[in-house]
Amino acid sequence: MLKGFYRHSPPVCCYIHMGKRIVILGAGFGGLACANALRKGLSQDHRVIVVDRKKSFMMGLVNLWILAGSRRPDEPQTPLAGLNARGIEYLNDEAIKIDIAAKKVQARGHGWIDYDYLVVALGSELAPEKIEGFAGRGYNLYDAEQVQPLREKLLALRQGRVAISVMGMPYKCPPAPYEAAMIISDILEKNGTRKNVQVDMYVPAPIALPVVGPQVSREIVDMIARYGIRFHPDCKPKIVRDGEVEFESGEKAAYDVLAGIPPHRSPDVIKTSGLATSATGEWVPVDRLTLRTGHPGVFAIGDVAEVKSGTVTVPKAGIFAEGQAKVVAQEIIDEISGRPASTAAYNGQGFCFVEVGNSMAGFVEADFYHEGGPAVRLEPPSAESYEKKHDFERSRIKEWLL
Ligand SMILES: Cc1cc2nc3c(=O)[nH]c(=O)nc-3n(C[C@H](O)[C@H](O)[C@H](O)COP(=O)(O)OP(=O)(O)OC[C@H]3O[C@@H](n4cnc5c(N)ncnc54)[C@H](O)[C@@H]3O)c2cc1C
Repeated sequence: MLKGFYRHSPPVCCYIHMGKRIVILGAGFGGLACANALRKGLSQDHRVIVVDRKKSFMMGLVNLWILAGSRRPDEPQTPLAGLNARGIEYLNDEAIKIDIAAKKVQARGHGWIDYDYLVVALGSELAPEKIEGFAGRGYNLYDAEQVQPLREKLLALRQGRVAISVMGMPYKCPPAPYEAAMIISDILEKNGTRKNVQVDMYVPAPIALPVVGPQVSREIVDMIARYGIRFHPDCKPKIVRDGEVEFESGEKAAYDVLAGIPPHRSPDVIKTSGLATSATGEWVPVDRLTLRTGHPGVFAIGDVAEVKSGTVTVPKAGIFAEGQAKVVAQEIIDEISGRPASTAAYNGQGFCFVEVGNSMAGFVEADFYHEGGPAVRLEPPSAESYEKKHDFERSRIKEWLL
């Protein structure tokens, strides 16, 4: 049963009104973009409810700024409670069950919540335990709490080897490990130790970024080579020992500092929901244009979704989660407003800024629905793109939460 939810309104489960109830699971990139677009497009008699176990929002890209030393790890994050002032009902709770047939979700502290529409935006989780020996020996680059200790370790390193290992596919923000490698090189350069430290990048795939194809992959490898970073494809780690990673091929690599991007998995609540019917059993397959799951009124967006266009899968990144969120919001608004033939359709397009250290960033633009395969363009690093990356964060936080 729902306990203590909204002092001034009836419990969600027995709320009788003409309006619709849209429940969004997850207040990350996708959930926040969707909730705000819905609130702008729907009258107040329709309820937009967002459930997230976190109390605040921080973009994943901030990890790179903590690594670079340009953002303090203890800098306050943006409270999700800011949603309430916008007419979006934020519920700080964990979703533990999704009952598709009964159109309701269960939150650990608040009980069952009925919905007319459900938007699943729960992201992906990190599974460092899938790589034997990694926890305690390597630093998880995607865990904000481990990035500052990694930076300190790099600053203390006088000589030796830094290994950056992508430990599984798919992972979010495909360029981010390469950005981290160049930022690490820059940290060592500024620390005066770069000439004594070898930096190696190990990835499980045969090319740098399979999702964008061989041409851009070569450009990325050339880019990191300009910073003296060596690239090692086909290196999926099997076991991490003190000072050594062993790959599935049997090859071994020595390290003094190991920074890893652990395998990703979907949240447990997804696995028990019956929604995760992708080939791996992890992700939620959706229609590439509508983001519908096949269950009436149920959508999935962002990292948790598997958005396929032919053989191409749209990467897991915030910019795509945001684009998908806006389309889903428009579809729901159209449907509620009596315009069932919504023309909103996701276009598979996005961009991102590729940091290279020294307050510079390149720019990548991609169209994953381009006929004949993804069309991707990589612009060389500039101070302007680096500044735009900061604007990217600022403008979204302002639009979604402040
Ligand atoms: C180092 C790094 C750099 C990155 N750089 C970029 C970049 O430059 N550009 C870009 O576009 N993307 C970037 N990304 C990727 C981006 O952060 C993710 O792809 C994006 O956050 C995905 O959005 P989402 O809404 O699908 O999931 P998320 O933003 O991860 O949100 C999911 C939310 O669901 C909540 N949740 C999960 N399970 C439950 C549950 N059971 N109950 C309640 N709440 C739950 C979580 O607390 C979380 O708030 C980067 C990521 C990293 C790690």
